[in-house]
Amino acid sequence: MSIRDFQRFVRSETTAANLIHRYRFGEGAASRGRLPLATCPRCATRGAYALASGRWRCGACGYTFGLLTGTWLEACRFPAQTWLWTIKLFELELVAQQAGVQLGLSYPTILRAFTTIRRALLAAAEPTLFQQEVEADESYFGPRKSARHRGQKRGRGAPAKIPVFGILERHGRVQVTVVPDCSAESLLRETLRTVKRGSLVYTDRWAGYDTLAFCGYRHLRVDHSKEFSRPSSVGKVHINGLEGFWSYAKGKLLKHHGVSPQKFPLYLYEMQFRYNHRHQDLFTLLLQILVQPVPDLL
Ligand SMILES: [Zn+2]
Repeated sequence: MSIRDFQRFVRSETTAANLIHRYRFGEGAASRGRLPLATCPRCATRGAYALASGRWRCGACGYTFGLLTGTWLEACRFPAQTWLWTIKLFELELVAQQAGVQLGLSYPTILRAFTTIRRALLAAAEPTLFQQEVEADESYFGPRKSARHRGQKRGRGAPAKIPVFGILERHGRVQVTVVPDCSAESLLRETLRTVKRGSLVYTDRWAGYDTLAFCGYRHLRVDHSKEFSRPSSVGKVHINGLEGFWSYAKGKLLKHHGVSPQKFPLYLYEMQFRYNHRHQDLFTLLLQILVQPVPDLL
């Protein structure tokens, strides 16, 4: 959503609430002076009636609820305008500290809102079973250099880094997972979970991928020490797509100046979401996800 369109919705608390209402309940805007109808989040009966307080009551089960009740947005009791601004600044990749300054919110408050957005993205992720032609690769995330690690091994086997396994469909989506290590066993387990047997898998020369051919995959390797891509009878043998994602994600993560290992999966998944939807309107996608009910398990 362009800034120009966005401006129309954050003009007043009413226009902002109407936008969230439309995404949440899919009903038309309020008729003059009256709140629009809403669907009961408890029993799904449509047409709950509006109360003078600005909330709704379900005629069928008597449940009283507000605009944000039961959704991700309920985690922070912001006015609708503040929520829309928070989502906009998240879309524009401000870090929490900068967004807090812009919106006049304390750091813990804006961090809670941003963490809520990231948790919602993670919960909305649907694992895909990839097929046909995919690239598989692993990469280490973490501090680039520190006194503690100087002189120690880099890349595979280096300490204090978080190993991440990635699958990328040629010209398509990427799916990344934090793995315990980059042993053949871990890599194979992730491949079996995310790639359909019979698919063509491109990897580098890391021995961890040796077993793929015995597990029903067609397997082609690229040797980084010699070449970055070579033609084959099947297709271009390269893993440049995933290399591209790793530098995309690492570049963006630098802004956060170190993410704790506990929160790392949230940030990693955010990068996956941004990458997979990089040609789409992120604001609309984010709002669609955030008005969903929070799953019971969380
Ligand atoms: Zn109800």
